[in-house]
Amino acid sequence: MSEIKEACGVIGIFNTSGLNLPKEMYYGLFALQHRGQESCGMAVSRGGEVISHKDMGLVSEVFNDGKIAELQGEIGIGHCRYSTTGDSESVNAQPLTTNFVKGTLAIAHNGNLANADEIRRGLMEEQGAIFHTNTDSEIFAYLIAKKEAETHLLEKAIRQATELVSGAYALLVMSPRKLVGIRDPLGLRPLCLGEKNGSYILASESCAVEAIGGTFIRDIEPGEIIVIDKDGCTSLKAEKLPEKQRPCIFEYIYFARPDSYIDGQSIYEARHLAGRILAERYPVEADIVMPVPDSGIDAAIGYAEGSGIPYGVGLIKNRYIGRTFIQPDQVQREEATRIKLNVLKHTVVGKRVVLVDDSMVRGTVSRGIVSMLKKAGAKEVHMRISAPPFTWPCFFGVDLPEKKQLVACNHTIEEIRQDLNVDTLGFFHVEDLPRIIPNCALNGYCDACFTGDYPVPVPLKDEDR
Ligand code: SF4
Repeated sequence: MSEIKEACGVIGIFNTSGLNLPKEMYYGLFALQHRGQESCGMAVSRGGEVISHKDMGLVSEVFNDGKIAELQGEIGIGHCRYSTTGDSESVNAQPLTTNFVKGTLAIAHNGNLANADEIRRGLMEEQGAIFHTNTDSEIFAYLIAKKEAETHLLEKAIRQATELVSGAYALLVMSPRKLVGIRDPLGLRPLCLGEKNGSYILASESCAVEAIGGTFIRDIEPGEIIVIDKDGCTSLKAEKLPEKQRPCIFEYIYFARPDSYIDGQSIYEARHLAGRILAERYPVEADIVMPVPDSGIDAAIGYAEGSGIPYGVGLIKNRYIGRTFIQPDQVQREEATRIKLNVLKHTVVGKRVVLVDDSMVRGTVSRGIVSMLKKAGAKEVHMRISAPPFTWPCFFGVDLPEKKQLVACNHTIEEIRQDLNVDTLGFFHVEDLPRIIPNCALNGYCDACFTGDYPVPVPLKDEDR
């Protein structure tokens, strides 16, 4: 139901134990589908040759048994994409494959580079670089290939390339003989290591490792490069790291799957705790706590437990709405809400309802849902949002609308409450964010879309300052 599109998901496997590589990659990508639904792809290395298949569409649409059978190999990387930079076209689908003087590299990237435009301009003007896509991921591929041609060592080339870029990346690089994983020095985007029968797996989220029957080993550390080849797995730690790490808090609130763990923290627990904290901050007399499905479920359970008000299901989601069901303007968005959700009238009629969702961007979806609940006979609607109000754009791989479309940029909470026609409205407090990720909050996190406190310089437009 949300108005925010996810970033991207990546998976890589170095097969040393006779796994059916493309099948495992397929199921791994399938588990990461929530992170990107526009396009997907896989590239494998077979006897030193890189073979790939990618296209627009969901994992189940792009790959069939025939395609999977063609992608047998020893090493593989896969990607599912939502376009945060670059157009939504098949040319921008990943993995990107680059042929250069030393051979072929394939890369799969989750995140955004904050200085991509500057680097692209420099490479085009000074070195005559030609780019085939308009993604920042291709800049990364170009820099790594260029540095490898100079240094003759992939891991050294990757380290030098990372020193030139700024921003968010969980990056997989596949050469004919190596699989390399890199996490940005701030740790903005997640990446973890797992194994299955002795074969190593790198993935955006631990749920993908588990989906293929593997075992989670650990998170890749910020700034760490993991090199996997036939001799095993080697970790290259960054010599210099920023003082604080800045993993994206929104992974915990919204992006990641509830059954994943990131940096030692359960996503489900973080959301559940957010609901309990909302109950503490905004108590109310009510008869039922219900989530906006599926995004508000974990926090609604937490709110119900924290408040003692019974949890119930009052909204039924149509699970067969495909990715093509995208409504561009506001009126259509409201219609879309009606088609995606329906009210269980007997659950809400005459009731004081606490409605919980995980975020509010434009407010349009929430307005539509509240109107449906009231029409169905809800006596009162008290809305609780388990994220703080969005007030700043994200430059690190999350597609938030421009500031003028963010409801909290242009209205006070009281104005939003009136506009939504709810009896009370409560957003999660920015100062409570560390409480939902107790395991990693001490090391720092990014909350810039709520506070404007960006971890690195970003190209903010004048009107957004
Ligand atoms: S700005 Fe927001 S969405 Fe973007 S990385 Fe930071 S916390 Fe995540």
